This record gives sequence, C-alpha cells and structure tokens, in this order.
Amino acid sequence: DHKAANALEIQGVGRRFGGFWAVKDVSLTVRPGERRAVLGPNGAGKTTLFNVLTGDLVTSAGTIRMDGADVTQMPMHKRIKGGLRRTYQHAHLFNGLTVRDSLFLSVCGVAGGWQRFMPLRLNDGAVAKAETLAQLSGLSAELDREVANLSHGQRRQLEIGMALAENPKMLLLDEPAAGLSPSERPRLAELLLSLPKHITIILIEHDMDIALKTSDSVSVLHNGQLLAEGTPENIMSNEAVHKVYMGG
Ligand code: ADP
Repeated sequence: DHKAANALEIQGVGRRFGGFWAVKDVSLTVRPGERRAVLGPNGAGKTTLFNVLTGDLVTSAGTIRMDGADVTQMPMHKRIKGGLRRTYQHAHLFNGLTVRDSLFLSVCGVAGGWQRFMPLRLNDGAVAKAETLAQLSGLSAELDREVANLSHGQRRQLEIGMALAENPKMLLLDEPAAGLSPSERPRLAELLLSLPKHITIILIEHDMDIALKTSDSVSVLHNGQLLAEGTPENIMSNEAVHKVYMGG
C-alpha cells in the first residue's frame, strides 16, 4: 500500500488521573493537510487529549502514530523536532518586544517555549521571513508595536505567526478564540482559513461557530469519549451533539 501515511492516527488512547479516565478509548485518524476541530463541553477531555498528543502528558492506554511513526513513548522534544507545534490557551509572549522582534526571534529559533529544544538559527533571511510571517498572521500593520500594546486578538494572531516560524507539519491550536471579543472572532476565523494548506491543523475550540467554519471535519468529545465525528454539516445536525451542547 503506497498511500501517504496519515498525519495522525490514534488507537484506543486513554489518560487516567488516579481512577478517573479523563480521556477514554479514543481512536481517530487525521489526513495530511486536514483541518480537524475537536469540540466538546467543559471537562470533555479536549485539553487532556491535546496534552497526550504533544507529549506534555504520557498516555495510560493506546497508541499514537504521527506520519506513520509510533510516537506513543516519544518525549515531547522529539515530537517537536518531527514538526509538531502547539499554541496554548494563554499565549506565551514577551511583552517588552515588538511584533517584528518576536517573529524575528522565532525565525532564529529562540522565542517560542518549545524552541529550547531547537538549534539557534541566525541568518540574513530572518528579517524578511519575520515580515512574511506578519503578513500570514495579519499583523503587517503592527510590526513595530510592542506586544504589550496588542489587543487580545492580535496576541493570538502573533502566537500563531510564531508557531509558523519553523514550517510545522502539524499545528495544534488550543482554543485560539478564547477571550476574543465578537468583533475579533471573524478575523481569527479568516486567519485560520488562510494558513498554508499543507499544514495539518487540529483545533480545540469551544466556539462552535468558528470550529465549524474553519474545519474539514469535527470530532466531538463528551465525558472523555468520542461522541460523534463527521463533516461540520453532519455535526451541526447531530442530535446527540446538540443535547450535550444545549445541556439537554
Ligand atoms: P476540557 O479541555 O474538554 O475542558 P480537560 O481535558 O481539561 O477537559 O478535563 C477533562 C477531565 O479531566 C475533567 O473532569 C478534569 O477535571 C479532569 N482532569 C484534567 N486534568 C486533570 C489532572 N491533572 N488531575 C485530575 N483530573 C484532571
């Protein structure tokens, strides 16, 4: 079989805290370049699943394959070297730097928390690349602004721009719309839709509207287990999903 390997393939994955399974027997497959949203009410297990995918947490059961390779026992820094990146619910940024400097340092391999695992890469192209990243993340007009003076939405954009600095293969976005004002949300959705198509994106999102608008497929978690999976249209008309979301 010469098909390209799946970007992500997890089989029976679980994570236990004491006697409590926060994620239980989850299996799913994500194709290269796919945009997958992971939805679910608070406590559904979304963050735990993310942490297991990145290697922030070890699994209690099951297997995780990325690009065809079994990474279940692989430490986070090795997954990062393999092209995995994540953003956090609370952006990890330096307030005293400008947007330009933040992106520049990311390109050089020194600004993101994960970059402690990466080699330093000083090069003449880094300034131009920082400007390209600003464009990609919708921050071209803010290059000289200090991070401290950015709006909440712009901080989320910057974090995504920084995560793109090393051409990730797979990007895990942890609730990028959390805390955004209604007027900032469409811009974030637009940014997510404009990201390079070859990057596989897995998005945890509480905002159902953004998740459905920006994804090819959706996995819904409930009580740590997969409740439903399908296209955004399927999920929107899924009764079990409505019940869980509307508290019915
Ligand atoms: P979500 O991100 O969907 O809101 P989480 O993955 O944060 O859900 O949490 C799923 C469940 O696991 C919750 O009931 C939460 O209380 C529990 N949980 C998460 N992390 C821990 C932990 N470190 N220790 C004990 N329980 C945890």
